[in-house]
Amino acid sequence: MAMILDGKETAAALKEELVLRLAKLREKHYEPKLAIILAGSSKPSAMYASFMQKVAKGYGIDAEIFRASDAVTEEELGSLVTDLSADQEITGILMMMPLPKGIRAEKMIALMNPDKDVDGLTETNAGRLTAGKAGLFACTPRAVMAILDHYKIPIDGKKAVIIGRSNVIGKPVSLMLLSKNATVTICHSHTKDIASITREADILVAAVGHANYVIADMVKEGATVIDVGINRVDGKTVGDVDYEAVAAKAGAITPVPGGVGSVTTTMVIENIIAAGEKLAK
Ligand code: NAP
Repeated sequence: MAMILDGKETAAALKEELVLRLAKLREKHYEPKLAIILAGSSKPSAMYASFMQKVAKGYGIDAEIFRASDAVTEEELGSLVTDLSADQEITGILMMMPLPKGIRAEKMIALMNPDKDVDGLTETNAGRLTAGKAGLFACTPRAVMAILDHYKIPIDGKKAVIIGRSNVIGKPVSLMLLSKNATVTICHSHTKDIASITREADILVAAVGHANYVIADMVKEGATVIDVGINRVDGKTVGDVDYEAVAAKAGAITPVPGGVGSVTTTMVIENIIAAGEKLAK
């Protein structure tokens, strides 16, 4: 039976480090502040905004929600993003997605100061990641890396296979694994005979968005399986991996819930602190 890679345990260990880094920041008389942009009336976005405000406050980080209506124009929202980007009091900006109809997310993201982009959405941060430079990177891929690091899963020289190539998960996690010297293969909806590729993986990351996509037959005995998926099936949250069958074969596995998702918000806080450390210099 596989070792369970516990996201909550990883997050708790990271929290201890983050609290120390926050204390150092405050010694420099820098007080971080998060701006959360909530445009439109999406209920899940409103819930996530309040949740992130609560998480930030749990660290003693001030977090303000900046609301805009469904009728907001690109000009209005754009000037809010521009103002927050320039505001000396703001350390990080989180923009709830999706944005209201008619607002181009790309255009809003392009207006964001990359050094306050705590979701790692800007092209500048994507470029920094590709170039192997420091920056603020997407939080879910970083949560994957944090779990591997916490459980000391060897990456150097290992074969990593990622299923999914989205800009928010598949691509960044591939680059992060590559930067740790894994040999990386990315699979997607056009990949032929995926199972023959995934069976080679020492580390298999599933970021597909289909429940039970990864079955035991696709997994090498003893592999580390990281399940990024979040799917609702019969009122329950499940990942992309057929958990019971795969756990019986893998060496280590993340559960859903209680895996990657439990670390993602911690990485948002880490990005706020990292942004603060850069601004406080
Ligand atoms: P996405 O943008 O829909 O990307 C899914 C990827 O999977 C695409 O690259 C797609 O290939 C590939 N794919 C789809 N069907 C496939 C198939 N049958 N065979 C092989 N590849 C296939 O999704 P995402 O935003 O990356 O999210 C992935 C999952 O992570 C979702 O379940 C999402 O809810 C979850 N998620 C989790 C967290 C967390 O904190 N744990 C955070 C965000 C999202 P193409 O590129 O060819 O279309």
